[in-house]
Amino acid sequence: MPCVMCRELHGIETCVTGCYYAALVAQGVVNPLQLAQLCSMYIPSAIHRRMTDAPPEERVGVIESFLYHYWARSKDMLRGSMGILEDLSAELAEKNAEVQKLEAELADLKWEHKEKFAAEMVSDDDERLKLELEAELAELQLALKINEKKAEVLKVEDEIDEHKLRCSGRRYQQR
Ligand SMILES: [Zn+2]
Repeated sequence: MPCVMCRELHGIETCVTGCYYAALVAQGVVNPLQLAQLCSMYIPSAIHRRMTDAPPEERVGVIESFLYHYWARSKDMLRGSMGILEDLSAELAEKNAEVQKLEAELADLKWEHKEKFAAEMVSDDDERLKLELEAELAELQLALKINEKKAEVLKVEDEIDEHKLRCSGRRYQQR
């Protein structure tokens, strides 16, 4: 039995000698069903050209990249992997805007507290201490919220990096 690629490319009944795809199937990088799926979305000769142009050590990455694009396209027929990047970029912009908004809020709050206590509007010492502690707590809570939001920003940035590595197939050459 030839692999799907040999059948599509050469119309022959056995794999060509040194068939890339039979080797990748044997290694468990790709299975026959996935190869057939790739052939249904991409022109087999285009896949084969990319494989032939790549140095041998990068061929696993080329197939993984095709598989990732196929997966992305089956999730989002219109935008494919570009859609994933667009969604992640929009999410990143939104989270960065939230960080900026919270940082502005914290700056305002600190200013407000400074004004309040500088003006000595509160004469009672106990009352003043209580208000100062409350102010400090409010600032800490907001600072904590900013840190949480910044961690979310980093997480989305990591997802974008991962997406780019998967798209290019480079992720698999690092293993
Ligand atoms: Zn083959």
